[in-house]
Amino acid sequence: MLESVEKLKAAFEEALAKVSDSEELEKLRIAYLGKKGAVADFMKELKNMDNESKKEFGKEVNILKDAIDASIRSFGEKLDQARLDAQIRNAKKFDFTIPSDQPEGSLHPITIVQRRIEDIFKSMGFIIEDGLEIQTEYNNFEAVNIPKNHPARDMQDTYYLSNGQLLKTHTSAAQNYIMRKYGAPKKGEPPLKVLFPGRCFRNENIDACHENTFWQMEGMMIGEDISISNLIYFMKVLLSEVFERDIKVRLRPGFFPFVEPGFELDINCLICGGEGCPTCKNSGWLELLPCGMIHPNVLRMGGIDPDKYTGFAFGLGLTRLAMMKFGITDIRVLNSGNLKALKQFVD
Ligand SMILES: [Zn+2]
Repeated sequence: MLESVEKLKAAFEEALAKVSDSEELEKLRIAYLGKKGAVADFMKELKNMDNESKKEFGKEVNILKDAIDASIRSFGEKLDQARLDAQIRNAKKFDFTIPSDQPEGSLHPITIVQRRIEDIFKSMGFIIEDGLEIQTEYNNFEAVNIPKNHPARDMQDTYYLSNGQLLKTHTSAAQNYIMRKYGAPKKGEPPLKVLFPGRCFRNENIDACHENTFWQMEGMMIGEDISISNLIYFMKVLLSEVFERDIKVRLRPGFFPFVEPGFELDINCLICGGEGCPTCKNSGWLELLPCGMIHPNVLRMGGIDPDKYTGFAFGLGLTRLAMMKFGITDIRVLNSGNLKALKQFVD
């Protein structure tokens, strides 16, 4: 009996040596380990044996079965590896320098508007700064004159992190850092002019005009004798350049803790032309720009003497501006990742 086990093992090894692909290997596996295979045939013979032989023979057959199984597996792995190697060897070489025949991608509408505004302000001598998205409570609130217990710090609106930091709720979070980085202009130097775009986060219910992730762009100008006239001039230049046409605006007093006095600059809704639509909540106007003269406290916290220097700041809803410029009626499109929808907006 044991002789026949040895014979079967030899026959298997001979057959395995002739296998050249996984299909043949599978056939071999079925022939030896299948329900009606050679090993199963041996098992059947166990029934006719006495206990002593059954034990000895059974053990040998099991060893053989495991050996065949292991050989088939390792041979299968070798075949897989060889196939992969061949694929790599035969793969078409990819030349990155050949122009693609695939359609080109397009810039996101926010990026288009952001770059456009950056260009406008750079031409007027502004520096572009980048603010962190994760901020300290101090930078996001205290440093821009929003003390504890102020409604703007409502937990509902802010995403706090477990370490006490937060996702910035407005680009103003970079004001303190920028003031400290550049400082007030020295005698004879031009005013400090900085533009800082960024992604902001608030815990909002998402609908056609609200998003929890949105873009703002903030600007500051600090120097001696900077006044509201300077602010109005820059806002006018900005809007006419962005929209490439005359835009109706209105300026209303607005309260923002970081400016004094503060204004709210609204533009005539470009979607409905002022008739009223869901985007402008049927008012015909859209709040576009909170702006004003930088609060003395904010200058002081930024290390700038408010008795010597003044400055203006404005925050621009970049998301809203992109919607106006491209006639996007649903804010959700912007973060949707829907290429088909986003690709229609080109400059
Ligand atoms: Zn409207």
